[in-house]
Amino acid sequence: MKEKLQRIQEEAAKRIQESDSLEKLNDVRVAFLGKKGELTAVLKGMKEVAAEDRPKVGQWVNETRAQIEKHLEDTRVKLEAAVMEERLKAEVIDVTLPAKKMEIGHRHPNTIALEEVERIFIGMGYEVVEGPEVEYMDYNFTKLNIPEGHPARDEQDTFFIDDKICLRSQTSPVQARTMEKGELPIRMIAPGRVFRSDEVDATHSPSFHQIEGLVIDKHITFADLKGTLEEFAKELFGPETKTKFRPHHFPFTEPSAEVDVSCFKCGGKGCRFCKGSGWIEILGCGMVHPHVLEMCGIDPEEYTGFAFGVGLERIALLKYEIDDMRLLYENDTRFLKQF
Ligand SMILES: [Zn+2]
Repeated sequence: MKEKLQRIQEEAAKRIQESDSLEKLNDVRVAFLGKKGELTAVLKGMKEVAAEDRPKVGQWVNETRAQIEKHLEDTRVKLEAAVMEERLKAEVIDVTLPAKKMEIGHRHPNTIALEEVERIFIGMGYEVVEGPEVEYMDYNFTKLNIPEGHPARDEQDTFFIDDKICLRSQTSPVQARTMEKGELPIRMIAPGRVFRSDEVDATHSPSFHQIEGLVIDKHITFADLKGTLEEFAKELFGPETKTKFRPHHFPFTEPSAEVDVSCFKCGGKGCRFCKGSGWIEILGCGMVHPHVLEMCGIDPEEYTGFAFGVGLERIALLKYEIDDMRLLYENDTRFLKQF
């Protein structure tokens, strides 16, 4: 019996020594000490040992078990240390490597132009109002005097969610929403993203930005509109800037005008930038149509007002002399860094 135990112990020691991973070591434990292991089999065979020999044999078995367990435990500790060392080697951080450079961004030319426009109008007592980009057609068209079947709906072909909701084709619906609240007087600008189903080219994009302006109060006249926009143009393009109002038609204003500013490159003499005319078109405006006031619950006998709309990209392109609108959306940092 003693020889058998000796053989088991030697066999176990050999296999423990051969184990080069924790998994293999565990296999050895199961093979010798597990429920069906070799040493356990010896214990089960104790009933065949003569009764007077049993305590002695039992002691041998226990000693063998203790030795195998100690050997297993020592090897486990060694293997774990080796695994840890491997990991430390693999995960070492080389503190002498140069760090990744943090790129700090800055404001987009559109944002810079918008903040400039907002600064000018806030200085004149306007508040900045925002409205939804997904809009009821009622607000986008009908309440702005563009009933169903009106040709202006075709000019502003946009993207439709269903037969009642579209992506707004202009920021003007914010006018109707503000007027409906009935808090008068109103002096606001509404900047935001608008949508048209336009092909992308140097001056068109299916998504761009407008800044809408609206003033409603008692005794507001066309002279107030002219004075306001003249002040705006001077602030934006320089104190020498002149403005010119050309009669135009918009469904939601009457009378309506398009506004040109004197070319800030040549001072009005005519150059390549203004295509020789000396003038640059910047926005559309007019006195709010009495029917629009009525539809929004304001008495046109008591209140009058003016509205204007300017393309934000147009301002950015003019101000920074950019000749292609697509540059504003391509997010090429070599371009954007210049502003
Ligand atoms: Zn010019």
